[in-house]
Amino acid sequence: MSSWASKHFSFAGRLQLISSVIQGITTFWCSTFILPKKVIKEVERLCAAFLWQSSTESTRGAKVNWLSLCHPKQEGGLGLRSLMHWNVAWPLVENFGAQIVQDSGFSSQAKLEVVVNGNFWKWPPARSPQLLDIQIVLCDRLYPKERDKDIVIWIPSASRTYTAGRTWHWIRSKQSSVPWHRLVWFSRQIPKHSFISWLAILDRLTTKARQKKWSPNIDDTCVLCNNGSETVEHLFFKCSYAKCVWKRLSVMSEIPYLDSWQQLVLWMGKRIRKKSLYQTLIKLM
Ligand SMILES: [Zn+2]
Repeated sequence: MSSWASKHFSFAGRLQLISSVIQGITTFWCSTFILPKKVIKEVERLCAAFLWQSSTESTRGAKVNWLSLCHPKQEGGLGLRSLMHWNVAWPLVENFGAQIVQDSGFSSQAKLEVVVNGNFWKWPPARSPQLLDIQIVLCDRLYPKERDKDIVIWIPSASRTYTAGRTWHWIRSKQSSVPWHRLVWFSRQIPKHSFISWLAILDRLTTKARQKKWSPNIDDTCVLCNNGSETVEHLFFKCSYAKCVWKRLSVMSEIPYLDSWQQLVLWMGKRIRKKSLYQTLIKLM
């Protein structure tokens, strides 16, 4: 990662390296071991430092906290996976495999019928906390039928088979869907532009108005019009320069002048459902 830091990648380039290379490596390790929390924190600290500062030293200046990035794009994140959740998602099979059978006192070939009596469970006293957890969940959610065959099912998955990806979706904390995600992330996007749009919509661009919050002596007047505080809304909509750009765009396309992100998202929301080339061009604008 330190060798990448000197190559001056854009935010989008760094995000791509983290999601495809770093998360690929950590996924492999998580599939084999339960990583200590300290290791997970250090890996996530390094990734955050690389994403925001293009270094492996400092995490200062992070525009969005790491956990918020670890939500799917339709929920306002960047689609990264929280290593803490992923670490648990992978070894569930190992966690609740041979060790549990040994703790339970059953033989490794035991079938479900040894813990079923009629249509009820007849579990022996739990000998480990994990076994107790399993018994509580089973007694709460599933009702056995004595004559059914023993089969392995994975409840969180619609296909009833275990996949680490589905399990991760099941255990991660979920957010409500954001109305603007299709405006920012789409198949023919320019990644660098999408990342900046994502930051702008979250109001996390380093504008002068934001800098003034940390350093009150900074003059936050817009350098384009010298009239008004340089906020995201001002730069993209209220500024006289921005209004000129919007007027030109209106002549070239059907986009009217809109004076806030909220209006833009509302206007685009009604027009970006189709995947035509024209719709893509509108989104790229
Ligand atoms: Zn201005």
